[in-house]
Amino acid sequence: VGVIGCNNVDSYNNPLYLDASAPVKERVNDLMGRMTLEEKVAQMCQYVGLEHIKKAEKNLTKEEMANSDAHGYYPGLHSSEIAKMVEQGMIGSFLHVLDVNEANYLQTLAQKSRLKIPLLLGDDAIHGCGLVNGATVYPTPISLASTWDTALVKKMSVETAREMRATGSHWNFTPNIDLARDARWGRVGETFGEDPCLVSAMGVAMINGLQQGDFTGDQKVLACGKHLLGGGESINGINAAPTELSERTIRELHLPPFKAAVDAGVFTVMTAHNELNRIPCHANKWLMQDIMRDEFGFDGFYVSDWMDIERLKNTHFVAETQKDACFITIEAGMDMHMHGPGFLEPTLELIKEGKLSEERIDASVRLILEAKFKLGLFEKQQITEQETSEALFAEEHQITALEAARKSIVLLKNTGILPLKKEKYKNILVTGPNANNQTILGDWAFKQPDENVTTILEGIKQIDDQVNIMHYDYAWDFRKKSEKQVTEATAMAQKADLAIVVVGENSGRWMKDRKERSCGENYDRDNLQLVGLQQQLVESIYNTGTPTIVVLVNGRPLSTTWIADHVPALIEAWEPGCFGGQAVAEILYGDVNPSGKLPMTVPQSVGQIKMFYNHQPSHYFRNYVNNKTGDLFSFGYGLSYSTFEYAEPVLSNSAINKNESIEISVEITNSSDIDGEEVVQLYIQDQYASVCRPVKELKDFKRIAIKAGQTQKVSFTITPDMLSFLDIDMNPIIEKGTFIAMIGGSSRNEDLRKIEFEVK
Ligand code: BGC
Repeated sequence: VGVIGCNNVDSYNNPLYLDASAPVKERVNDLMGRMTLEEKVAQMCQYVGLEHIKKAEKNLTKEEMANSDAHGYYPGLHSSEIAKMVEQGMIGSFLHVLDVNEANYLQTLAQKSRLKIPLLLGDDAIHGCGLVNGATVYPTPISLASTWDTALVKKMSVETAREMRATGSHWNFTPNIDLARDARWGRVGETFGEDPCLVSAMGVAMINGLQQGDFTGDQKVLACGKHLLGGGESINGINAAPTELSERTIRELHLPPFKAAVDAGVFTVMTAHNELNRIPCHANKWLMQDIMRDEFGFDGFYVSDWMDIERLKNTHFVAETQKDACFITIEAGMDMHMHGPGFLEPTLELIKEGKLSEERIDASVRLILEAKFKLGLFEKQQITEQETSEALFAEEHQITALEAARKSIVLLKNTGILPLKKEKYKNILVTGPNANNQTILGDWAFKQPDENVTTILEGIKQIDDQVNIMHYDYAWDFRKKSEKQVTEATAMAQKADLAIVVVGENSGRWMKDRKERSCGENYDRDNLQLVGLQQQLVESIYNTGTPTIVVLVNGRPLSTTWIADHVPALIEAWEPGCFGGQAVAEILYGDVNPSGKLPMTVPQSVGQIKMFYNHQPSHYFRNYVNNKTGDLFSFGYGLSYSTFEYAEPVLSNSAINKNESIEISVEITNSSDIDGEEVVQLYIQDQYASVCRPVKELKDFKRIAIKAGQTQKVSFTITPDMLSFLDIDMNPIIEKGTFIAMIGGSSRNEDLRKIEFEVK
């Protein structure tokens, strides 16, 4: 067997590309010179992990297996055939290899191939490696965004990278930097919320933590900015449904997080399921090349989303054959196919027919190999048991997960009942479907060992061993609707002197009955009320007269208007991860002072959508005939047990030229007797402009700790780009006139201190 492009014996025996000390570029060139066309296209092919395929082989009929799109995990090839393809160097990447033994096995197979190119293994470890058994599961991204703490998000991402590498994965399909502009969408919990400034900051923190520079080394992973673009504002809030957005909305709102991700060096980007303004994102040259590569300078590689190249034919009907689909997507800029056999053969045919050039393929393969070299995969493919056991659920990771949970939980209402006084409430009922299970882990997590997860009930029990905690184990009843459970829980509430009712949603991939899920990818909803009989449960318990506290565990904003009007305390816990139960309990009892702030507006009802804080001035021109137009809870809102008083903000200058920056500062006093943390938010409004401008836009924020009775000064720099927008011709412009800077602890007008300045 000859080695292509190799004409001397030494380079045959000691090829340059296997020399770790050679520069990456030279290693890539050397390897590319040895590869056949088939081996090159194979690098662009990804398959799902063999264990999933084996499971499908057991559970599906032959006909079902043939229909690989409907049963996404079965790619239409037997697991043994796939293993053989790896040995032949005909597969470049896998996703969801969730067990380190499988990762080691697959890499062993790849080492048997002619050129020994290691496999790139990808996973959705979007808040820790939740799909891997025994990993640290951090709060979900919507929770992480509620911390407004970028340093913390970076830290948890470094730790996630470590757990990934220790279990054989090298590529994290995160951050999800979609703007969640519609609470009906089931994927809100995977995002950092509705605002481009906050989403960008969180996305960049995650990329920095995962890639840690240019991801060279064996403790880092590739990040993946996704999904390009607009899935968080689809028609009807339905996952993968079409998105129709103006170019202005695309450029001013949805693209900035991608620009920020590119600036942070994100090396991979995933295109979105949806079509955008009638062009499927997987066929969208304008997005993938003109904007991302030419305007923003993206120099990494694209991966398709799950089966979305196939959907160019099956769903969007822009391709008549799978070969057309491959042609359209590669022409648009696609570099890797997720997942299955639908790419290799058609692409090879396209090249042989002269429709695609080998240079075009080379461009994709170069980037994929660059990643493999930098990640150190050619030097080390096997993971030892010790590496895995040292990293998974490491003590320092647990501490970070707990800190993130503590900082993410948002106190929405408190008439003074919280923090709970231990001596006052001696008999407490804890109930509701999310009180004592792993719903707190959120989506992209499988069931974890019970000893790694502190449920809310367990958290409360840990805090107070003096009180009598009664628990009514209310099981999920989304569809079955058991009145009996409501009656029995209510009867117990009558005997209690406090009820803590934990309700919300369920994104759990671990649920035995998947039909009980109400949240997560493809779990979109046409209302935002509590599912099943949960509302009835809360009302029934409340009506006993026993003081009732409601804790929400959910992946999207819920319109709990009645609850917010009635109960004395309401906590938004989102999906706070494996220590969520401990953090909730600490907040209930005041061991931790709540400090989370909402990264997304909570509407009063689903009919208010689209609802976000950075709306146009005429957005609420009229009230609805039957209701007020305001939100239930505002973006940036969240209570503390401390009280923070903002003084009037001070500007370094009251008038500036267009290219100048200006300093704004404000003194904040913690006028309570409890130490606390506050998220100071800076918003700006351009008062009069040639194009309608939003009532306010978040431009910067800082999370600070202020001791009881102390005052702290916080400063921000208002830079020219914070004042610019796209003019009528879509060119960036700063117009002269009055701007209003607003600083405070939420986006609500009553929480903001305002000051004007002039741009000359
Ligand atoms: C999701 C992606 C994810 C992929 C692989 C898709 O359905 O849209 O976000 O990375 O599956 O799990």
